[in-house]
Amino acid sequence: MRKNILNNVFDTPYNTAPFSKINDHDFLPAFKTAIKNAKAEIDAITKNSEAPNFKNTIEALDFSGEQLDRISSLFFNLNSAETNDDIQKIAQEVSPLLSEFSNDITLNEALFKRVKTVYNKKDELDLNVEQQTLLEKKYKSFSRNGANLSEDKKEKLRDIDKQLSQLKLKFGENVLAETNTFEMLIANEDDLSGLPEGAKEAAAQLAESKNKKGWLFTLDYPSYIPFMTYADNRKLRKKLAIASGARAFKNDALDNQNNVLKITRLRHERANLLGYKTHAHFVLEERMAETPEKVEQFLNELLEKAKPAAKSEFENLEDFAKKLDAIDKLQKWDSSYYSEKLKQKLFDLDDEKLKPYFKLENVINGAFTVANKLFDLHFEEIHNIDTYHDDVLTYKVTDNKGDLVSIFYADFFPRKGKRNGAWMTSFKPQSIKDGVNERPHISIVCNFTKPTKSKPSLLTFNEVTTLFHEFGHALHGMLANTTYPSLSGTSVYWDFVELPSQILENWCYQKEALELFAKHYETGEVIPMDLIEKIKASATFHEGMQTLRQISFGLLDMSWHASDSPETIKDVKAHETKAFKNTHLFPDVAENCMSTSFSHIFQGGYSSGYYSYKWAEVLDADAFEYFEEAGIFNKTVATKFKDHVLSKGGTESPMTLYKRFRGKAPEPEALLRRAGLLK
Ligand SMILES: [Zn+2]
Repeated sequence: MRKNILNNVFDTPYNTAPFSKINDHDFLPAFKTAIKNAKAEIDAITKNSEAPNFKNTIEALDFSGEQLDRISSLFFNLNSAETNDDIQKIAQEVSPLLSEFSNDITLNEALFKRVKTVYNKKDELDLNVEQQTLLEKKYKSFSRNGANLSEDKKEKLRDIDKQLSQLKLKFGENVLAETNTFEMLIANEDDLSGLPEGAKEAAAQLAESKNKKGWLFTLDYPSYIPFMTYADNRKLRKKLAIASGARAFKNDALDNQNNVLKITRLRHERANLLGYKTHAHFVLEERMAETPEKVEQFLNELLEKAKPAAKSEFENLEDFAKKLDAIDKLQKWDSSYYSEKLKQKLFDLDDEKLKPYFKLENVINGAFTVANKLFDLHFEEIHNIDTYHDDVLTYKVTDNKGDLVSIFYADFFPRKGKRNGAWMTSFKPQSIKDGVNERPHISIVCNFTKPTKSKPSLLTFNEVTTLFHEFGHALHGMLANTTYPSLSGTSVYWDFVELPSQILENWCYQKEALELFAKHYETGEVIPMDLIEKIKASATFHEGMQTLRQISFGLLDMSWHASDSPETIKDVKAHETKAFKNTHLFPDVAENCMSTSFSHIFQGGYSSGYYSYKWAEVLDADAFEYFEEAGIFNKTVATKFKDHVLSKGGTESPMTLYKRFRGKAPEPEALLRRAGLLK
């Protein structure tokens, strides 16, 4: 029989993944073997004749399944970055096996009994902070799934979970069906006035693909957004906007009002069953924000501070629209359109002017230089390790002493088999086992413009900040320095995980940093200061209104999930209107409802979590102020950020880590100061 490379320790430089030697068909048998081995490791813990203690139970549990985790990360990363029909088929087969395995662990009563025994003795155990966090995390992974409940309550929980998963699915199906059924066919070319050529072409192609004459627009973002931003025809903008806002709110078979009410009531019941006051209390227990009260306080404080700026931006925009087109009252369907016009007038900034200063190679080297100046990291391109595609670049990352910090992969260009967007991931986690600090293998994957024979890859400014964003996540992974794998690197609460990525974007707006790498690809000229100023000013354009909008969604989310009596809410639209009462700027549209298509919180995983977008921005603005005060390359501040945030992963409460770095809690004002909205 052929040897399956995945079942052995990799005999490769730095123990890197042997991509070129893996056959896709090795994965399924390797998964099965790894699951079997992981189960045996769990059995060894539960059958241990010694009394349960931290080492033989909690620590053993965290280090179990290492082989399975390694294979999973290789496989699912390939499925995102270089997939094919075989890999997708294997993913379908493997996914249920993996969820069955993880259910087997959470429902393993013998295992929970041992974990609980250790947990109940936690005060006598003399554990360090990281160990205390790990113990808490392991215990909660059982208790939050109902391990402490009696048999009949467990049954009830399973029943609620089953109903919830069906309702969430139905909610999503309705939104999708509503999005797909609406079409706006335009026959008269005059009605396309204002639209860029690309948007017109796409609309013509869409019409043609459905055997229709003219130009077809839908509620899909790539079709909807350009129309709302550029189309001069106000009546048609109104038609499209109202159609979008009325999704799943028409009292027909695809209506989601009842689903919203049922989902919120079941989530509440589930939280009560597990001993929590509301669903939001349940969710926020594992967040930096901690409680619904703190989230609401955060949102309301930010609202109070941002509202004057938002109001004056709104009035300016309305004035601008009145002068330009003599419109009576600014409506929701005017917002993107006039904002874009005003932005063009104020900044006259287009990507083509900026791109020559952002050659991809220069930008990567810029990111490396920033990391060197801040954290003493050295990046050296290497060619002796395997990759899954020729486009993938590989680097050895070392510290000032020359010791290995990480292996770093960068995969920049789009191709068939890679999904859209940009992300950071890892092929091997960091941990300290038996005294050996296993260094991580970190990767960033993007979809940037490919070089041609005559032109190098020149990035838009948005792509530049995307690269720095993902590189910030990568630094969080590379600098990880914890004992336990489940607390390492980016394994932190999700309202904390965007701090390292978002803060790094700030360097893209700083003269001192741009001078290091933003040089014209032909002449070598450094980007002119007036362009930098324009980039900065346009980045915070309408920040007040944007902030108010995000706060309104955050408050709506909390209004559904932090209520301790959701069964008293009968009318979705009335409830929503109440939740929006302090945040609305535009006149309400009676036939529209946000909640019935708010998939983030009713289908996806953002319930009681929508606030985290703004929360993360406040964190990065507040943290970056510290750098600005001391100098953006100040070593003392950078070292504190590395020691207290980047290297610590999820080993302690994020607020504790943050305060240790910053010397105080984050202030919402920092966000508005950065935008120039507070003096
Ligand atoms: Zn991110």
